[in-house]
Amino acid sequence: MEKKMKRKFTRILYGGDYNPNQWPREIWDEDMRIFKKARINSASINIFSWAKIQPSEETYYFDELDEIVEMLSKEKYDIVMATSTAALPAWMVKRYPEVTRTDYYGRKHKFGKRHNACPNSLVYQKHAKALAEELAKRYGGNKYITCWHINNEYGGECYCENCEKAFRVWLRKKYKTLEALNKAWNLEFWGHTVYDWDEIVLPNALGEGMGENNTAFAGISIDYRRFNSDSMLENFKMERDAVRKYDPDTLITNNLMGTYKGLDYFKWAKEMDIVSWDNYPYYNTPWSMTAMCNDLMRGLKGQPFMLMEQTPSQQNWQPYNSLKRPGQMRAQSYQTIAHGSDTIQFFQLRRTVGACEKFHGAVIAHVGHENTRVFREVAQLGKELEQLDRILGSNNPSKVGIIFDWDNYWALEYTSGPHKDLTYVEQIHNCYRYFYHKNIPVDMIPTDGDFGKYDLVMAPVLYMVKEGVAEALEDYVKNGGTLVTSFMSGIVDESDNVHLGGYPGPLRSMAGVWVEEIDALAPEQHNTVVFDDGSEYTCHMLCDLMHLEGAESLAEYSSDFYAGMPAITRNQYGRGRVFYIGTNLEEKALDKVLDQVTAEANVSPVIDESTKLEITYRESDTEKMYFIINFVEDEQPLPKFFVGRKDLLSGKELDDSMTLKQYDVVMISIPKQEN
Ligand SMILES: [Zn+2]
Repeated sequence: MEKKMKRKFTRILYGGDYNPNQWPREIWDEDMRIFKKARINSASINIFSWAKIQPSEETYYFDELDEIVEMLSKEKYDIVMATSTAALPAWMVKRYPEVTRTDYYGRKHKFGKRHNACPNSLVYQKHAKALAEELAKRYGGNKYITCWHINNEYGGECYCENCEKAFRVWLRKKYKTLEALNKAWNLEFWGHTVYDWDEIVLPNALGEGMGENNTAFAGISIDYRRFNSDSMLENFKMERDAVRKYDPDTLITNNLMGTYKGLDYFKWAKEMDIVSWDNYPYYNTPWSMTAMCNDLMRGLKGQPFMLMEQTPSQQNWQPYNSLKRPGQMRAQSYQTIAHGSDTIQFFQLRRTVGACEKFHGAVIAHVGHENTRVFREVAQLGKELEQLDRILGSNNPSKVGIIFDWDNYWALEYTSGPHKDLTYVEQIHNCYRYFYHKNIPVDMIPTDGDFGKYDLVMAPVLYMVKEGVAEALEDYVKNGGTLVTSFMSGIVDESDNVHLGGYPGPLRSMAGVWVEEIDALAPEQHNTVVFDDGSEYTCHMLCDLMHLEGAESLAEYSSDFYAGMPAITRNQYGRGRVFYIGTNLEEKALDKVLDQVTAEANVSPVIDESTKLEITYRESDTEKMYFIINFVEDEQPLPKFFVGRKDLLSGKELDDSMTLKQYDVVMISIPKQEN
């Protein structure tokens, strides 16, 4: 069947979550007046309105939503229409108690909160599908609806009996026989062998779970995570297809949450027309981490994405909800655009009067008018974005790929030993941070990514090496690629059983090392590594005790009984090379290794000059658009590379006395023929 081309955005969507249903009618007109002053051109509506638009099983009520859609259409808004299925209506729970979730501790939930629908409840599915269909039937032909927003922030888990039954079906499909399943989960250990599919129970606190992040059998727990992710993905696909029946060409998304652990977003993105996400850094989140999340969201489809939510000022749900300082929201917005977003949307447009998000920032504050600092900043950004449609659809070229993989995320953090503090995202970020500070563009890629596109592939803590991955990496290196991997790599297969025959298992021959033992250091302990040039650095947490099998040693441990053994190695393999980092290095030491890696891989920063500014660019057919942002406290000089150019945001010519204060942003276009 020929697929109809999806409609593209024709401007940068600027707006956010808008809930006029929570307000009396006269407030709506005031909203329209105020939003216009901020050049707001888009609204995400109907996100939590299930109880409003379906007050009972038998009745739909669309009068109010009709009125909202009509008002926004008249104002030529780009409407992001949600399907409202992320919070259950009370009547449904009363009539069908099975629709709610059972939690990790086995507690069956009553009506309340959101994230409370069992993804495998046929009743929930039936009603969610019907609602999505009703909405699409009614609004699918409205040309102002430029995006469908299915559900909201899918997440959480369910451990109910329904899910247990569905899990068994999922497992039967995957393993075919109980022999295969028993082997995959290594159930002979502790004699947990099952002889009937019905003997399999969900791995929560009442089963194999040992606290939410530990398990007696990682095999079943990892499979449960895959199953839970798939179950919710089925919910998404069901609503997506219901919408698609009546609306053939509008983009369909749902809002993801960066490095959220529960769902395999690479798998999800394949089913989405466009990725969108909600960006809520904490007051102390490094800017390199928000940059990484943006790159991950772009990497899911290798395409520009939508920023569905950010706060204009503060959050409410973090422990310390500091205000965004003057200029910070603008700088964060440009960072998001620089890393691939084609929209800037806020949660929320008007600050709600009650419930748990009343302290969550908004474009219109509780005071109710536009004479506020936050509004002025929103309005300034709106005015600027109106001029920047040229960025729509442009790319972020990069020569470095960093592998991010949800199976590894789950498996690494389920391991019992060798070290409880080893966490996946932190390890990936430790590597990403280097490239961020050097202004070297990075793609976040899956384990089945096209490695050949990159001069350098980073695979830190590639603990689980699934079928075909080692072979693909070998091909990549043989053909001249540079691969970096690290401690806790190549250890297990996709069922969390060890690749026998010596670590790092299938990576051993290309890395040219054999890891005989892994030492774990407590937080107060460290070792030291000494490089060939005599420089010394500390290392922590884990130390691989390894032997060279063709690789050369770049640094050795200098204390404890393994002093003199290699800690960091490099192996020539085919036309390429593999670096193996056998311990958790302090930042400066990792920088030193990666300096050598990038030099050998011929990977270079966006500009030659060294600077503390964040510099990123997006590229269209005709130009490179540079975003230069100061996220550090001290004022920074503009790199010479940009002197004489015009700042597209201020319209000013940039001379060599130009400096950027914290959160200042400059945007420059350079035609491609000049590069
Ligand atoms: Zn369930």
